[in-house]
Order: sequence, then C-alpha cells, then structure tokens
Amino acid sequence: MLGTPWHVIMRFLTEERNDRPEQSLQLTNKSSVFYHAAMSSSTERFEVALNTPAGRVTAVLDVAIGFVPVTSIVPVARRLGEDMLKLEEARVREQGEPVSCQMGCAACCRMLVPLSPPEAFALRDYVAGLPAERQDRIRSRIDEIDQRLISHGLASSLREIAETVEAIPDEELDPVNRAYYALRLPCPFLENEICSIYEARPAACRELLVTSPASFCDDMVNNQVVPVPVGVRIGTVLGLLWSTIKSEPPRLIPLPMALEWAERHAHEASQRWSGAELIDLLLDKIWRVLSHEFQVRGQTPPS
Ligand code: SF4
Repeated sequence: MLGTPWHVIMRFLTEERNDRPEQSLQLTNKSSVFYHAAMSSSTERFEVALNTPAGRVTAVLDVAIGFVPVTSIVPVARRLGEDMLKLEEARVREQGEPVSCQMGCAACCRMLVPLSPPEAFALRDYVAGLPAERQDRIRSRIDEIDQRLISHGLASSLREIAETVEAIPDEELDPVNRAYYALRLPCPFLENEICSIYEARPAACRELLVTSPASFCDDMVNNQVVPVPVGVRIGTVLGLLWSTIKSEPPRLIPLPMALEWAERHAHEASQRWSGAELIDLLLDKIWRVLSHEFQVRGQTPPS
C-alpha cells in the first residue's frame, strides 16, 4: 500500500534528529518592517532560501512578529511546503513521469489524513467562518463518518491517536490506517468529488501527488501507486513545532476528529506566541527534516 501520510509522518516524528545542516538553509531578514493597518500586529518580511534535495527554493514571506496565535504560522509553512513540492514535481516531470492527479479525482480523499495541532486549529477557524448552512452540512457528514467508525470499532482508536501523549509506532498505526482505508469513507469535506475547502485543505492533502495512472489510486493496497517524493512534510514540521512550544510529545490528529479535537483544546488555540519565535522554530524544524531527507536520499546538501 502507498506509504500514507500517517506512516511517513509518524516514522519521522519518532526519529527526530538533532544535527543541523547549516548549509542547507539560509535566512536573510530584509530590513523592511511594516505595519498592516488591517492587522493587529506588525509584520516583518523575510527572504528565505532553502536548499532541498530537489533544488533551491527562495521565498519572500510576510510574518506576523507580535504575539500571535499558532495558526498564524500555518499559511507561511504551507507556502514553503508548496514551493518545495513544485520543485519535486518539476523533477519528476523532467524524468518523463508527469503527475497524474486531476481535478475531480478524489481517490486519495478516502485515506486517513493527519493534521498537526496548528492545522486543526486553523481548520476549525476556517469552518467557523463558513455560512451556517455549509457548517451544518460538514458537521452532519462528520457525524455520519463517526457512526460508521463506531460501528467498525475504529472511532475509539482514532480518538486515542489524537489524544495520546506517547509516540505511536508504525506497527500500531498501520492496521488502523488499513482498516480506515478499507471503509473507503469519503472525507467530510468532499463534495461531488471535489474538495470543498481547497484553499484551506491540510498540508498532507497538498503533498499527496502520484505519477502512476490515476486509476491505480482506486485500490492503493493492490496497485503499485507511485507518489511524488516529498522532501519536507509540513504536517511533520508543524507537529514538531507544536511539540516544542507545548513541551509535549508530537501528535497528529485524524482529519475526521480534527474539529472536535480543536474545540476540546480551544484554550490552547487562544494562547499567544511570539511570531518571531514561531518563524525561527518553523525554519529550525524544516532544517531538521531536510537534514533527514538529504541523508535518506544519499545526497549531500550543497555548500
Ligand atoms: S480536505 Fe479536501 S483534499 Fe483533503 S482529503 Fe478532504 S476533500 Fe480531500
């Protein structure tokens, strides 16, 4: 079966390394600091250059530097993740293996999608801003999924995964992952085979691209599905960042449980953090993940 987002992320979370390849990322803080009248905190502009196994990414990021909720770092992290993924896509295309994912194909929206805590809070905020009728539809689909999960004995396992303070080994996650996928439950945000929260979808959804025929994704257990390599999983990075600021083990939350988890932990979402500290931590975690990825691919970071 395709290495699902859960599998890969949890393996990394349990193997976090401490070495830091100083040459793999350069950060220059441009001197321009400005204030958005529409925002409650000042914003600082950062120019980031990242050497990744697929090439170099440069990005200009506007980062809130006052005291901000952890959700403020989510769009910044996703932007970097998408830029890195574009390089991976370009590389496989050059090798004659274009991405076969297309709008209307939602086979992968039946997998168990993991969210980091900052993403779960961001999703809750996004859903809270939708018209009441859309919110009702989403909540009713989540309830239906929950009933199916309860009837198949999976709901309690998924809630345990969301709340555990222990790292879960792959051997324990794999059966849950497979049992969930066997049910082929459409994601609660899927409408007419299209993601209804496309701009707010989790990083794990953005990162799941394949080069094998799209029809293979109908059965990822028996078909050889070939994913586009992902150098840095943003869910992993945000999970590690949350773990650091909360001084707790990394955790990931199954998508069907994300809204209820975020509501149960709402007091943590209302905490404020230094924006400068969040961007520093984000880049530090990306450093660590990139270090690991260079090693996995047998590459040396450019100096
Ligand atoms: S959030 Fe959107 S992209 Fe992700 S699994 Fe659900 S429907 Fe698919």
